[in-house]
Amino acid sequence: MAPPKLPRLDALDVDNRRVFVRVDFNVPLGNDGTVRDDTRIRAALPTLRSLRERGARLVVASHLGRPKGRVVPALSMEPVAARLAELLDCEVRLPDEVVGDAARRLVLETRAGQITMLENLRFHPGETSNDPEFAKALAELADAYVNDAFGTCHRAHASVVGVPRLIPERAAGRLLAKEVDALSKVAYDPAHPFVAIVGGAKVSDKAELLDALVRRLGRGDAVLVGGAMANTFLYARGEAVGASLVERDATATCRRIVDLAAGREVDLLLPVDAVVARSPEAARGEVRVVGRDPIAEDEAIYDIGPATAKAFAERLDGAATVFWNGPMGMFESPAFAEGTLAVARAVAACEGFTVVGGGDSLAAVAATGVGDRIDHLSTGGGASLAFVEGRTLPGIAALTGEEAA
Ligand code: ADP
Ligand code: MG
Repeated sequence: MAPPKLPRLDALDVDNRRVFVRVDFNVPLGNDGTVRDDTRIRAALPTLRSLRERGARLVVASHLGRPKGRVVPALSMEPVAARLAELLDCEVRLPDEVVGDAARRLVLETRAGQITMLENLRFHPGETSNDPEFAKALAELADAYVNDAFGTCHRAHASVVGVPRLIPERAAGRLLAKEVDALSKVAYDPAHPFVAIVGGAKVSDKAELLDALVRRLGRGDAVLVGGAMANTFLYARGEAVGASLVERDATATCRRIVDLAAGREVDLLLPVDAVVARSPEAARGEVRVVGRDPIAEDEAIYDIGPATAKAFAERLDGAATVFWNGPMGMFESPAFAEGTLAVARAVAACEGFTVVGGGDSLAAVAATGVGDRIDHLSTGGGASLAFVEGRTLPGIAALTGEEAA
């Protein structure tokens, strides 16, 4: 399997042409209705700036929240358009609809370098259902198509799949190209030794990821399992886990992955000690570390212990490729954050190519302040995991013109 070859933004003829840019401006809004965190808007600026400089007439579109196909005024793109206007220091025009006469008129009046943003794509039921009529209405607004919304590429929605299939001239935006470039080094022909770290709450969420990673690894490589997910692995091995979060119906999956790893001579490391407490609200003084000594019936595992953190860090030393998804414990509480923070520091210290993905994992990296020492922080969430699993994302297939898997 080869990584996708994306059509390049620089090769697209955009001068004085209407360019539809699908961005991911699904930002958190504050109680006052303004943009609380503009990271996602900033992430699209390189693409938008480049297109403006080259004289494109921009039609920018995104979804925001889950309005479920109805117009929900609180989810209007208005605050997003206002923030984008500030960041680019230019006017951003917003019709009060996604498609229709008013939207078409504003788009046709858009001159070179100017921006029109469409209303929330999910105000229209045709977006998530990939309705052909809706896709056609969107496609008629533009001469060329750019996708810079990596985080939605795993969804076969109209603006992600239907529109590009109707517009032959299309390209990947800078953000999308950067994500695909970095994640391809993990998903296709990675440098070895490869160490994957997988944590988070549920085995069932990450079973396919674990499976795909183990199949890509061999002797000398390792998978480090932490988080509540590790509880299920320990339980499947017959160990006592007290009142820990465990998925009793996922034990067969755990055994299958353990066997797969053993068959490929991949080291699968489980925690050798843990931070346990009687309540998730426990403060630092109310937790204890258990190694070989048993956990009580009413205690639960909320973090990997120091010996595990040390073993994981040692395994990361010397890795040529590292992919990390999922915290090692309930890191939102300071009493249970140390394992995750230690892993974040160890990933940052690794000389190899390092990639971290997942909303909570990125929050943990941000909390340690080591983000700039990690090669790639993938903002894609579900899309990042699907890509690392080796799947063809519908939005990427639509760009390259291949059939979706
Ligand atoms: P990501 O967003 O990085 O993909 P996940 O959403 O899969 O990560 O998992 C993160 C969640 O898992 C966090 O809310 C964290 O509190 C929870 N978690 C991790 N370990 C434990 C544990 N031992 N007990 C309970 N919850 C845990
Ligand atoms: Mg999460």
